[in-house]
Amino acid sequence: MLKKLSSLLEINADQAPSRLDIDWPSSEKYDIWVKRDDLLHPIISGNKWRKLKYALLAIYQQKQTSIVSFGGGHSNHLHALAYACHKLNIQLSAIVRGDYSRNPTPMLKDIAAWGTDIYYVDKKTYQKRDEPDYLAQLKQRFKQAIIIPEGGSQAAALEGVGEIISQLTDSFDYIIAPVGSGGTLAGLIATSSVARIVGIGVLKGQGYLEQQVTKLLPCSNTNHNWEILHQYHFGGYAKQPVELTAFCAQFTEQTKIPIEPVYSGKLFFAAKDLIQKQAFPLNSRILLLHTGGLQGARSC
Ligand SMILES: *Cc1c(COP(=O)(O)O)cnc(C)c1O
Repeated sequence: MLKKLSSLLEINADQAPSRLDIDWPSSEKYDIWVKRDDLLHPIISGNKWRKLKYALLAIYQQKQTSIVSFGGGHSNHLHALAYACHKLNIQLSAIVRGDYSRNPTPMLKDIAAWGTDIYYVDKKTYQKRDEPDYLAQLKQRFKQAIIIPEGGSQAAALEGVGEIISQLTDSFDYIIAPVGSGGTLAGLIATSSVARIVGIGVLKGQGYLEQQVTKLLPCSNTNHNWEILHQYHFGGYAKQPVELTAFCAQFTEQTKIPIEPVYSGKLFFAAKDLIQKQAFPLNSRILLLHTGGLQGARSC
């Protein structure tokens, strides 16, 4: 069934990590690799496929026809989910933070074209997105819809994300990935046995992000070999100072790997800085996880 779902959605085969060929200060002191999950699909890209995979499989198998989910006006999650729902004939109702009705973003225009029903809510209503009473109301209103939380980050997401690690044939000392709502990091932590998992916070969320990740980890989790770094958010979510956009452009020119400033730009910027500062033991094997999300760059 999973094969059928992947082929319906035209998901590409998993790519093994490749060496990151780049001349950063001190990069010769490390063994640096990149895993290109951005290549999994042009729209259902990167970690969004990993996180949604088994949730979508269950919904597809149970022949559910209605999903409600949440996101901001540039959400990669809503974009990926809306496209998948369009392909699978599932009605998606998107609860969007803020009123973009007069000025829809490219992302919102896409999902509207794919048949998503969009509901704009104010910040206060959006804050209720995880509250049981509010979710019960939504479930009633939307025909017993399946509710998928913001970012697709839920317990059911961990297995799909964990496959990033279980499918590796080499081991690494460090795996570094961006953190937004925490599902990706939680999946990596729950599956990793050797590598230290290092998250790069993309928003101002010291304490909050650790809490989000911890909430998603199963009670049985015993892996504490992880941390989130908070000095690379560049002022907050989707903030794009010139230093960051210039870095993204230069990185893409040098490596031919497309990145954007919201997630992957911050990841690779952080990697460069940490390597330059020799923040890892010499000769460490470091895997940088490119989580995709290139559609977000259109709004920049
Ligand atoms: C959503 C997203 C993330 C954040 O992942 P979380 O599981 O929400 O922490 C990272 N990178 C990209 C490209 C994303 O779209």
